[in-house]
Amino acid sequence: MSLLPADWAYHRVRKLGVPMVLDIHSSQVKPLSDAAYELLPYATGEEDGDLRERVVTRYGPHAVEAALKELGALATSGFITRPDLKLGRRIAAAPTPLKVMFLHVAHDCNLACRYCFAGQGSYRARVEYMTPGVAQAAVDLLMRESDEEGALIRFFGGEPLLNFDLMRTVVAYAKERARALGKKLNFSIFTNATVITDEIARFLAENNFEILISLDGPPRTNDRMRVQRNGEPSYHLVIEGVKTLRRYIAGRHIGCRVVLTPQDLDLVEIVGHILGLGIWKVMFGKVWETGSEPYAFKPVDVERLKAGFTEIAATYTDSVLRGKFHWLGINPLGGFIFRQLEGGNKDVYHCLAGRKSAAVTPSGDIWPCFHFVGRERFHLGHVTTGINESVRQRFVQNYSENRKSCRSCWARYLCGGGCPANHLARYGDITKANPVQCDIDRHVLELSMYAYARVVREAPHLLERLKVIGHIKEGYYSDKGFVEHLETAFRLPEEAEQ
Ligand code: SF4
Ligand code: SF4
Repeated sequence: MSLLPADWAYHRVRKLGVPMVLDIHSSQVKPLSDAAYELLPYATGEEDGDLRERVVTRYGPHAVEAALKELGALATSGFITRPDLKLGRRIAAAPTPLKVMFLHVAHDCNLACRYCFAGQGSYRARVEYMTPGVAQAAVDLLMRESDEEGALIRFFGGEPLLNFDLMRTVVAYAKERARALGKKLNFSIFTNATVITDEIARFLAENNFEILISLDGPPRTNDRMRVQRNGEPSYHLVIEGVKTLRRYIAGRHIGCRVVLTPQDLDLVEIVGHILGLGIWKVMFGKVWETGSEPYAFKPVDVERLKAGFTEIAATYTDSVLRGKFHWLGINPLGGFIFRQLEGGNKDVYHCLAGRKSAAVTPSGDIWPCFHFVGRERFHLGHVTTGINESVRQRFVQNYSENRKSCRSCWARYLCGGGCPANHLARYGDITKANPVQCDIDRHVLELSMYAYARVVREAPHLLERLKVIGHIKEGYYSDKGFVEHLETAFRLPEEAEQ
């Protein structure tokens, strides 16, 4: 009989020299010794004694004995989990309260970024601003469709701050409705940060906004794509906005979304620059490979992109291990670590789009997310008539286990089936995974596993501390005084060492 279950669903990988294993059904990761890594197929019975002999020759009998003990402990410690065959069906049958509403208060923008997916703000239609009537109906819908856990309103555009007066009205109205109904409500904004004044920054601070700004890195990188209407660079305007924001808002509440292009793949330089501005959260996007434009990723660019991610993952991990915790907000690496510490990353969906999140445009039309705006087949409803359940069901049923392309992929519970909007752009079908994107996503997932495995292996004493920081970042602790106490106690640096 083999040491480990012969039908164990695992993914074994050595990334940047770190051997580790993922238990697919729990999404938990464990670093392994070199000998245990090599012996794993022997321990499951997939390979015979020849493998064991080769490992003995390479590492010696004592190391092999220790490795077999290490592998045996995977089974006895409960690390190996059995498949939950009904998981996807069960999740799909559960209620789908609306959790996130993207409120497109302005289909207009003061910039003209070359790669903009939204037609420079107007979504290739007419410039339009949301009215108070539509906004009020949208908030009412959110209050009806959300559950007792509450919801998040994300102000979106174009550039939402071009309709700042409406934002003020919406926040006041939504807070009043939420209070009356006893629901928790949070706000966030995606902004290019170029029109931020003290008044705006104060308002965002007073209402505890999470801020996500668009900035691609240092001036040379940013201004290649992100320009004003007259073609002039935008970097200096963004920096003024960031400085104003930082006078009122802590760096941990400000994030930055970087759109990568094949021309600029020095992720270490980009991230270093953004952290240097006192912004703690960084996430990456890219222009999908369907476009013919020079800045759209093509299959030929994929290896360079992967190399960029590899380099940032190594720098990230070294930084965290040296106690530079302001690096923790680099996603998806940081998010992966925090979720591992909370017991898992398992999900059968990639995002909430169409199920638990919706985008409302100035006309009051509802779409699964901003990328679906104008795709009539996916018209999710209207604020006056509500959500079209049959369209919602197409997203509910689109869970990774339910899709041919994902069913046997080791990453199905970590990736959740990839971005449906990306699949649609590539194949005209939200259920069909794009193999080029999958290759990149799986690489980044393995790098996230690597970052976590190195912390476990090299600095287990940090794990409890990281757990607390994760709680603070994710906002699990709502008591402000307690958070401040923890931040001081754990020296979560506000003006972090760069
Ligand atoms: S990596 Fe690709 S195949 Fe695997 S779960 Fe994600 S979308 Fe599906
Ligand atoms: S469908 Fe894609 S673009 Fe839309 S919210 Fe999901 S991950 Fe984001």
